[in-house]
Amino acid sequence: MNTIIIAHLYPREMNIYGDLGNIIALTRRLEWRGYAVEVRSVEVGKFFDFSKVDIIFGGGGQDSGQLIVGTDLLIYGEVLRNLADSGMPMLLICGLYQLFGNKFVTNNNQIIKGIDVFNITTIASDTRMIGNIVIESSFGRLVGFENHSGQTQLGVNQLPLGKVKHGFGNNSTRKHEGAVRNNAIGCYLHGPVLPKNPKLADALILAALKRKYGIAELLKLDDSIELRAADVASTRS
Ligand code: GLN
Repeated sequence: MNTIIIAHLYPREMNIYGDLGNIIALTRRLEWRGYAVEVRSVEVGKFFDFSKVDIIFGGGGQDSGQLIVGTDLLIYGEVLRNLADSGMPMLLICGLYQLFGNKFVTNNNQIIKGIDVFNITTIASDTRMIGNIVIESSFGRLVGFENHSGQTQLGVNQLPLGKVKHGFGNNSTRKHEGAVRNNAIGCYLHGPVLPKNPKLADALILAALKRKYGIAELLKLDDSIELRAADVASTRS
């Protein structure tokens, strides 16, 4: 059976907002299409070989978790930038989204250097941006839940994931959310984001299957329940 390998970045430290649900959604949507899935954890202090990986995922975490994983992540900076440019699908949520940028400055003014996959800079603030979020993107409407103090600014030529229709997004002033580099996507959408946004989940899956097996299109799934959940979430204030 064809197998897709997912690298889960630092699940011990960076998984406090239920973002593991994104791994579950990717796994189920691949299994429903007849693929086997293997999830490999990237752990601090244990060298990880990304050469056999097909999708990379990293979730959110507290400043303290980011301080723990930040130095370890730097080891893989060049590999991950090259993989992003080669079309590897990646999804980074909140805390790891921030560390895939230039830097994250914590609310204690500690500077955590990022790996420059995205040209973004994040500074913690006194405002916690918490609540339901809805954005318009090239994947259509995306719904989620955000919980961050970090104010993220896009650097020159950095494309956002989408435009905020409800909620904060990258920061509390501009109405853009997330960042995209090829098939690498970073954003503040917890929820977890993929179960209620099947088009985004399938875009990551198709990118992986195209890259590994030359698959051009996916078997269509019945997403009626997922879309109904997204409709309900999009009406929440
Ligand atoms: N600690 C970071 C912040 O508060 C990221 C939080 C998160 O991952 N939800 O902005």
